[in-house]
Amino acid sequence: LDDNLSRLAPHLDRYRKNGILNLINGKDDAGSSSFEVHSPIDESLIASVARGDASDIDRAAKAAKAAFPAWAALPGKDRKALLHKIADAIETRADEIALCECWDTGQAMRFMSKAALRGAANFRFYADQAPNARDGKSLPSPDHMNITGRKPIGPVGVITPWNTPFMLSTWKIAPALAAGCTVVHKPAEFSPLTARLLSEICRDAGLPDGVLNLVNGMGEDAGRALTEHPDIKAIAFVGESKTGSMIMKQGADTLKRVHFELGGKNPVIVFDDADLDRALDAAVFMIYSLNGERCTSSSRLLIQENIRAEFEEKLTARVNNIRMGHPLDPDTEVGPLIHQVHHDKVCSYFDIARQDGATIAAGGTAPDGAGHYVTPTLFTNATPNMRIAQEEIFGPVLTSIPFNDEAEALHIANDVAYGLAGYVWTNDLTRALRVSDALDAGMIWVNSENVRHLPAPFGGTKASGIGRDGGDWSFEFYMEQKNIAIAT
Ligand code: NAD
Repeated sequence: LDDNLSRLAPHLDRYRKNGILNLINGKDDAGSSSFEVHSPIDESLIASVARGDASDIDRAAKAAKAAFPAWAALPGKDRKALLHKIADAIETRADEIALCECWDTGQAMRFMSKAALRGAANFRFYADQAPNARDGKSLPSPDHMNITGRKPIGPVGVITPWNTPFMLSTWKIAPALAAGCTVVHKPAEFSPLTARLLSEICRDAGLPDGVLNLVNGMGEDAGRALTEHPDIKAIAFVGESKTGSMIMKQGADTLKRVHFELGGKNPVIVFDDADLDRALDAAVFMIYSLNGERCTSSSRLLIQENIRAEFEEKLTARVNNIRMGHPLDPDTEVGPLIHQVHHDKVCSYFDIARQDGATIAAGGTAPDGAGHYVTPTLFTNATPNMRIAQEEIFGPVLTSIPFNDEAEALHIANDVAYGLAGYVWTNDLTRALRVSDALDAGMIWVNSENVRHLPAPFGGTKASGIGRDGGDWSFEFYMEQKNIAIAT
């Protein structure tokens, strides 16, 4: 812990001294006013942050518009080289990124060091796609030759949340830049450190002025202004479902194209023929890593009734053993939640669970003292209609619900507003395929936790999102398809 704290100290000093500035058209920018960001670990002041408003967004959008023609015209191989350079710099500064992310968000270092490198991998993957991103095909008809290809849509807005903000920002910004779009990024107001770092890295790597602009600020002013700006052609948004709905309304007048990665209430379904030790490991990992502040977390355990008692007993023991602590302590598995309001929201489900008749088998408390800590919590004896089984809690809180057979498991799994991910544990291949096919979710993992393959599509159905990232799917969002028909 001391070693990590001492490596972090010079970076924090820099932010305290300079503040966290916006970056508009390649220039540091103090914004119209400022706000303070505090660490979830002890509420200490991290820094003063530039607070962008509609006028700052307007300047950033105009810079992105002005930079667009030259960036879009740059040969793909040159965009590829630059994006690889950015990935190199992310790798070089991965330790700094991870330390800052832990301090800013309360996420444990053991996960954030990997998340920083995943940010580099996102840039590398899309760097390699850049040269062929616009490739088209010819579609001959009897009297025409159709030539179809893609062009970048224009300047785009990227709005990101506070959970794993660095990784998520790169996941949006890298494909946008690879496609030839310019970007205005509005990061979450609760976690501005690594967005600033990313913009510095891109500038220092030689990304031309105006290609990536950073405007910090509140959702209701800077965020809103970005979604309403006429020069911004599309909004890639990651956050809560109700914010997605607001953004859709805000963007209606300018006919904004939107891509939404929203909330989840993802089931992990464990059948009695599964490898139960592996299933237990995966169930624990997928809700208690990243503080449970993870869109793809398996927040509902659907457990077959005949193995329920034994599985829940082992699960309770595991949950009670999870190490909660300072996020920069290498042993820590669960750190403090992002901010007080979110902490209180997560804790409110303890009473909701009790009132609705569920059992708190582990956790269910918030330790006294500094920091937004919540003990890893397990609810058992839950029924599918309880609020703890329906609502996204977004903390280290798992709700266990029993089922008797496959049909009941599927009914419970699908009977929620969300449809992001699902996890199925069984050794019956036919059942695995049948259940995966019937689950209402964009992504299913069978006998696995969430392991990302970047060429594969990522995204959700129902209230969990619109559109897909990953592979070529990202380019479909950031680019326009164009067809030219030549009479033959
Ligand atoms: P949030 O919706 O409160 O905020 C996300 C971003 O939207 C922030 O930058 C915020 O300032 C901005 N915003 C808020 N109101 C806005 C408005 N009216 N117009 C424009 N922008 C606005 O979400 P959060 O609490 O920061 O993040 C947690 C949520 O994100 C959870 O629901 C989680 O499931 C979801 N999430 C989903 C995925 C996914 O891939 N599906 C990934 C990560 C997080």
